[in-house]
Amino acid sequence: MKIDIHNFESIIDPDVLNRGVQICQNENIQTLEKIGDNDYSAIVAGSEIYLTNISFDRAGALLTHTCNCPYQSGPVCKHKAAVLLTIRKHLKNNLPFEQGKLNQLNTTLDKQDKAALTQIIMELAKHNMSSRNSLLKLLDINNHSPGK
Ligand SMILES: [Zn+2]
Repeated sequence: MKIDIHNFESIIDPDVLNRGVQICQNENIQTLEKIGDNDYSAIVAGSEIYLTNISFDRAGALLTHTCNCPYQSGPVCKHKAAVLLTIRKHLKNNLPFEQGKLNQLNTTLDKQDKAALTQIIMELAKHNMSSRNSLLKLLDINNHSPGK
């Protein structure tokens, strides 16, 4: 189902939407960074800390939206709803987005050469199983590993 930044309420469960509104009111979005043209990344506090990422096309249709919370009952969890509401508010009112640590990371990585990037990523993969699995999945390595 197509989700649009200008008109997403209609496809979101009203309870989920209300809880998204509450997240905004309680100021539980700790950071919301714009990390690309239409690419946003947020840290949302709840029972745990959740990472919520949303990107749009130029017309405002959602291209990707992810959240690491366990919600699976619909396309949009309360964290995504809260982030969507906040992005739209910022866009409507021309409010600036935060320049936080993710933007700093982006800028810093941009300045690294290929060997340095490989070393940084290998360090991540060596010491963090979740990063390792994400990298293997992103690079589609699991599916093409040679058989033993
Ligand atoms: Zn969520």
